[in-house]
Amino acid sequence: MQRRTRAVRTRELPWRADLHTHTTFSDGLLSPTALVERAAHCGLAAIAITDHDAVSGVQEALTSGAQLGIEVVPGVEISAGIDTQEIHVLGYWIDHTNAEFDSWLRRFQAIRVDRIGSILQRLDDIGIHIDYDYVIALGGPGAVGRPHIAKALVEYGFVGTEAEAFETLIGDGCPGYTARERVSPADAIRIINTAGGVAGWAHPAVEGHDEWLESLVDMGLEALEVVHPDHSRDDVQRYRRLAGRFGLIMTGGSDFHGNDKEGAQTLGRYTVDNAIVRQLEDSASSHREAPT
Ligand SMILES: [Zn+2]
Ligand SMILES: [Zn+2]
Repeated sequence: MQRRTRAVRTRELPWRADLHTHTTFSDGLLSPTALVERAAHCGLAAIAITDHDAVSGVQEALTSGAQLGIEVVPGVEISAGIDTQEIHVLGYWIDHTNAEFDSWLRRFQAIRVDRIGSILQRLDDIGIHIDYDYVIALGGPGAVGRPHIAKALVEYGFVGTEAEAFETLIGDGCPGYTARERVSPADAIRIINTAGGVAGWAHPAVEGHDEWLESLVDMGLEALEVVHPDHSRDDVQRYRRLAGRFGLIMTGGSDFHGNDKEGAQTLGRYTVDNAIVRQLEDSASSHREAPT
């Protein structure tokens, strides 16, 4: 039986944009083309492709967007760290063909792959053997990470669920855990600016450190993700106020991965006014070199 999904009110969406989505080029389940088709079906005006530490899906999405008449904002979501905590920095309107940005991401991806090897070695030391190539293959064309190890652990039958894999084997403090070499948010913001993009703080309520905002703004942060599925109504109001106080562009999106809980259709339900896309574009243009 097909699961009922909540209907998206298409007629309200032609002026709406979803500025946070993932494809198979990171941990999303849909290809860029399939994602853009789904966004067009929802009636969205624009969508930002923001894969984790990867921009390899952007070109395909741009091509599909042009065919389907939906605007695609080239983006990225970079995992950075403050002390031992993770912080995600979104980049909007980046030039995904920028050579410096590309080599930076490649170095970053190489670090991720090295980490996979050291986690698998630690698991091996406690008698849990997972094939390295199998995990890399699970990563597909995009960034490979711990979620792929979790998936392999389930498929090999060592744990029942991916959550259990994190809780018992590969999460923080577990026997297979290896700390990740992280970039600083300042570096993430700088490289986004280098690629002509605008940097924003993704889902700040998830981190729960609003006090970080002021220093992030000093580093060059220009946007704040106000609308997100993990934000309560109070969070949305608070981040609206904070964005206003610091003069930040208020972004938002579904953080769609294609695997919504209970089949709910989140694409099209967490959106911002399409005028935000223009604000981001205006800001991005200030990072681009003037033509000579
Ligand atoms: Zn994130
Ligand atoms: Zn995300």
